[in-house]
Amino acid sequence: KQISAEDIRKSVKDNDVRFLRLAFTDVNGTMKSVEVPTSQLEKVLTNDIRFDGSSIEGFVRIEESDMVLHPDFSTWMILPWDTEDGKIGRLICDVYKTNGEPFEGDPRNNLKRVVKEMKDMGFSTFDIGFEAEFHLFKMGENGEWTTEVPDHASYFDMTSDDEGARCRRDIVETLEKIGFEVEAAHHEVGEGQQEIDFKFDDALTTADRVQTFKMVVRTIARKHGLVATFMAKPLEGAAGNGMHTNMSLFKDGKNVFYDKDGEYHLSKTALYFLNGILEHARAITAIANPTVNSYKRLIPGFEAPVYISWATKNRSPLVRIPDADEVGTRLEMRSADPMANPYLLLAAVLKAGLDGIKQEKMPMEPITSNVFEMSEEERAKRGIKPLPSTLHNAIKAFKEDELMQEALGDHLTHSFIESKEYEWAQYTQSVSDWERKMYINY
Ligand code: GLU
Ligand code: MG
Ligand code: MG
Repeated sequence: KQISAEDIRKSVKDNDVRFLRLAFTDVNGTMKSVEVPTSQLEKVLTNDIRFDGSSIEGFVRIEESDMVLHPDFSTWMILPWDTEDGKIGRLICDVYKTNGEPFEGDPRNNLKRVVKEMKDMGFSTFDIGFEAEFHLFKMGENGEWTTEVPDHASYFDMTSDDEGARCRRDIVETLEKIGFEVEAAHHEVGEGQQEIDFKFDDALTTADRVQTFKMVVRTIARKHGLVATFMAKPLEGAAGNGMHTNMSLFKDGKNVFYDKDGEYHLSKTALYFLNGILEHARAITAIANPTVNSYKRLIPGFEAPVYISWATKNRSPLVRIPDADEVGTRLEMRSADPMANPYLLLAAVLKAGLDGIKQEKMPMEPITSNVFEMSEEERAKRGIKPLPSTLHNAIKAFKEDELMQEALGDHLTHSFIESKEYEWAQYTQSVSDWERKMYINY
């Protein structure tokens, strides 16, 4: 994984790379980039590329908007498709201020900060496996999206050989070309819905990878005349897109979530971590489900969670403990959707879990039946609370949770709230077809 400046110089030369794309992520999780011709390679390699951050969502600073890009060499890759202008190299960067300090508004820097807190507590890695689901829709005549699906298959449908399945295979092959270890790829429950899972890795690497993954999925879909979307609930009345977040914590090469004598093979550390997640679940939701649309997925009936609880088998609660061996022992948080900014999401869940470890409190009893089928009284008796039902309620919960604000730091907390409150205000002023159908003849 170690890549040096010299390796990059050689790769640029050997592959005749013509442009260098320097990527970073804004507060909403959108990948942005500055592209320079290869003639600027030496400047790129010596952290000497500047850009104006004032047009980037969440980056605006009143003092000055000049930002400096520090590429992470280990993220070097040549985009797995040729453009008319030849090959393009890509590096993911950290954003720095001109005074040489990391910029606090950069979600990637922030995740590194929380990972360092974890290391200071004696742990070595926070390992993450994401299961990002998405939809493929047919493209309209002018390259625009439609809501027409390219297939009518369903879960794990193996026989389908439609454009959706062909596109999925092409995505998998492209990912393998750029070094992804794809472990599973299958059709999901919904029509037009797909899932591709790649191997778990440390939090920063996985957050970087999911950003690359989305770029690859979108690009390859277009090649097949399809439009990919990671929207949480693109179709009303059908399955939404989740991004299950599988988490484990390692120390000296050992998974500290595993205990062969523990109930469900979970260690005390795992249970404390779990309790941290459950306690901060409402505020985490703002980050894990950051759009108006996200809350249209968090409803009963589509394998998405609604209540704050956990279980070992059942798929209805927020956290599930999948059956696994020692290395694979993990907590699967099922709420996040792929609209979440992965850097912010992992900073938040890690901070919540580490705090849980410090607090040493046991979580509530796991549930053994479907939470949706329990009566309201029974849920209340067990202390099972619902997740926030709207973006507005989630932001409110986030504003009341100091620890989750610390997980983002002041700058990101401020820009996140500002951006999301604006989104909510716009939504409350919009008038939808549903309203016209409902009220026009009222
Ligand atoms: N699509 C479901 C969701 O919205 C998840 C299905 C699954 O268990 O993979 O979270
Ligand atoms: Mg799935
Ligand atoms: Mg899953």
